[in-house]
Amino acid sequence: VSSVYAAPGERGSVAEYRSRYGHYIGGQWAEPIKGQYFENITPVTGKPFCEVGRGTSEDIDRAVDVAWKAFQSFKKTTPAERALMLSRIADRMEQNLEKIAVAETWENGKPVRETLAADIPLAIDHFRYFAGVLRAQEGSLSQIDEDTVAYHFHEPLGVVGQIIPWNFPILMATWKLAPALAAGNCVVLKPAEQTPASILFLMELIEDLIPAGVINIVNGFGIEAGAPLAQHKGIRKVAFTGETTTGRLIMQYASQNLIPVTLELGGKSANVFFEDVARQRHDDYYEKALEGFTFFALNQGEVCTCPSRALIQRSIYDEFLGDGLERVGKIVQGNPLDPATMIGAQASNDQLEKILSYIQIGKDGGAKLLAGGERVDLGGDLSGGYYVAPTVFEGTNDMRIFQEEIFGPVVSVTSFDGFDDAIHIANDTLYGLGAGVWSRSGDTAYRAGRAIEAGRVWTNTYHQYPAHAAFGGYKQSGIGRENHLKMLDHYQQTKNLLVSYAEGPM
Ligand code: NAD
Repeated sequence: VSSVYAAPGERGSVAEYRSRYGHYIGGQWAEPIKGQYFENITPVTGKPFCEVGRGTSEDIDRAVDVAWKAFQSFKKTTPAERALMLSRIADRMEQNLEKIAVAETWENGKPVRETLAADIPLAIDHFRYFAGVLRAQEGSLSQIDEDTVAYHFHEPLGVVGQIIPWNFPILMATWKLAPALAAGNCVVLKPAEQTPASILFLMELIEDLIPAGVINIVNGFGIEAGAPLAQHKGIRKVAFTGETTTGRLIMQYASQNLIPVTLELGGKSANVFFEDVARQRHDDYYEKALEGFTFFALNQGEVCTCPSRALIQRSIYDEFLGDGLERVGKIVQGNPLDPATMIGAQASNDQLEKILSYIQIGKDGGAKLLAGGERVDLGGDLSGGYYVAPTVFEGTNDMRIFQEEIFGPVVSVTSFDGFDDAIHIANDTLYGLGAGVWSRSGDTAYRAGRAIEAGRVWTNTYHQYPAHAAFGGYKQSGIGRENHLKMLDHYQQTKNLLVSYAEGPM
């Protein structure tokens, strides 16, 4: 692959991947107990680049056991000690930014300009944010009577299980790990089987900063390793990010042990453009709105909040869509390792096929294809990679491509007549993760933002993920929140000490 970044294993590669990874348990690299491995493929070329341990319930048992042993001392660490650990992880990641970013690009297929500028810097900031908020967290005290006091302490849960998807391997791992560790828990994390290697690469870089057994990574498939983790009697919470259908299963598993769950699931986010967006056609605001329209292709559309439905007010429909299509035509697709590339490869062959099948469903269902709609062959070594052209359909909200999550660079566009119609269409979905509202009127934007049933409504912006803004789903997009200091509550329980200081009888 011709690029400034050589392939893993080649001379000059900055992503110094090993050819084989086991699990990371108890501060050591561990062979899977059953001795099995699976091939890990890079979507950049469609070729394998390393092998990864295929975990089973035996590996999960071992990791949970080791994590509990580590918890006996980790729970005694002070907030300052844990904050320092998180800050050191952030610093180490920053010192190795390019290596980690390139490793993530090889693993997932996303453009290196994104991993360098967004994925890894956001992960670094996440560790820093939780290092900070942890120090600022305080308990509370209720005065019951003159001599009686109720103290409320935050205590960690113990060992928690975390299961993550493949679309932002390192960032999703960080969203889970940073708050869990800040709160004083030990973790068993299972990466997605499509993208385990960059997380393992990161673990190699930071392992000396973490006490043995505090973070344990068990690789493998959902049924073989994920289900035994989510059902394990030894975990006190399960945190999951993935598909809504899998989320339902995770809740069932957790109910067997009556443990809390947080679920970050799918979405079908509406990006709503009100007519005043086009009041001045080519000023900076208008250009920003057009960019917002093209964000369905960011990260190849493999974002749970992908603005996969665009709702454009009828009075500006033709001109705005025309300008939007022109912008879509300027999205540079190419080798993800080339810093000029804006859209790279889909994360796996399965995902590629799923997207292509939805493009067919769109055509068969009567939607009009306005752009893209096909696999792209980039030639040479990249011919085997999983590339799909940014795709724009026009149709109506009852079509399957408007209702079902495609998780690819595909936007389904429709028009609306007025405010109420816009809100009705935006909310006509079983999901409620994200939305975008575009209007020059603060009043319209505010009212739309409040009326849309979604956990995150971007207003005159999209796809920003700062660590200190709460993120999570309404409806079937999930339970609980990630990011923000609220997250500590999901990883802690309240200890109430009710103390009498009275010297006399009760
Ligand atoms: P997925 O549900 O197939 O897999 C997610 C993880 O769950 C993987 O690690 C997988 O191995 C594991 N898993 C699968 N079946 C399991 C089972 N029965 N028991 C336990 N674990 C199991 O999802 P995916 O295809 O990897 O990810 C894409 C989905 O993730 C999309 O729906 C997307 O919207 C969602 N997502 C949501 C957010 C969010 O924050 N809401 C963020 C990213 C992705």
